[in-house]
Amino acid sequence: MKRIKTQSIDEIQKQLANVQQILIMTHYNPDGDAIGSSLGLYHFLLAAGYRVDVVVPNDYPVFLQWMPGNDKILMANKSPQEALERIEQAELIFFLDFNVLDRLQELEDTLREAPAPKILIDHHPNPEPFADILISTTQVSSTSELLYELLVSMEGEQAIDRNIAECLYAGIMTDTGSFSYNSSLPDTYYVVSRLIEKGIDKDRIYWRVYDNYSVDRMRLLGYCLNIKLKVLPEYGAAYISIDRTELERFNYRPGDSEGFVNYPLSIHGVMFSVIFIQQEDYVKISFRSKGDFYANRFASKHFGGGGHKNAAGGYSDLSMEETLEKFESLLPEYKTQLLKNHLYHED
Ligand code: 5GP
Ligand code: MN
Repeated sequence: MKRIKTQSIDEIQKQLANVQQILIMTHYNPDGDAIGSSLGLYHFLLAAGYRVDVVVPNDYPVFLQWMPGNDKILMANKSPQEALERIEQAELIFFLDFNVLDRLQELEDTLREAPAPKILIDHHPNPEPFADILISTTQVSSTSELLYELLVSMEGEQAIDRNIAECLYAGIMTDTGSFSYNSSLPDTYYVVSRLIEKGIDKDRIYWRVYDNYSVDRMRLLGYCLNIKLKVLPEYGAAYISIDRTELERFNYRPGDSEGFVNYPLSIHGVMFSVIFIQQEDYVKISFRSKGDFYANRFASKHFGGGGHKNAAGGYSDLSMEETLEKFESLLPEYKTQLLKNHLYHED
């Protein structure tokens, strides 16, 4: 396990030697890896004697609100003035789990111009060159896994306490869909075994994240799979769309549709799955693929987004109907790519 250059570790240590007030920032619509890595780093820096702030651009789902230190996270959409003050006060800023500054949404310009030195720790391809120190590789499951390696390189195994271990484990578990994707490298399991040695209860962490849904969410899922799922077998693709009235009918709460996009991938022959969710003024889109179909390239070329090869996101300013038309009209162009790599058409 040697995925971080010694030079980068030295540079981070040099920066840490000069400061007292540190800010940790993660991306818009934070996911389990974003919150897990941010809080893992928070506990580490706090134990080392720093004053630490964690700021996120907006809310995140209830099933992520249990990690130790959760109550210390400041949501910029709810407390914009306080968020700006914390950004201003920072002497050093860690950016976790994203590769382009526009994933900070409204905070993008403020942070781009912030005078404090910037450290980016991330696992997405092609990071935007905004950071003074960059720790980035796609050869890890998650930012949380990479952060584990960084923390141990700096302070040794004993610096990882149970709180840190819980947060990092939650990050790895959620970014791999509980070890079903992005988890084919042995190092991931080395890190997981180290975290388990710290006394975490991995089953409890699973329950807190995945067995913590509302009845409304379950019924919305049933409705989507029964009524809203459209399968396009000629392209090995499937999609689900949800409009505002449907969201309201099922008392939608942030995070309720998390994971829906994965279901169509378990249909025989489907290797590209998409979900379109109507927001107030745009359509949010999530893409998932199997094998060698680059969902991130599709997302960035046609829907202003990006992400990983097999998990990406984007958005559309068109109406839902027009967005779905646009999506369907793009598929013929990708037919060969989609079917070439058709995992299950070989049998
Ligand atoms: P999700 O579908 O869960 O919202 O996002 C899946 C992955 O796609 C995220 O981990 C992130 O890497 C990426 N992603 C989602 N939305 C965007 C976006 O608007 N822009 C970019 N560049 N990446 C995104
Ligand atoms: Mn991640």
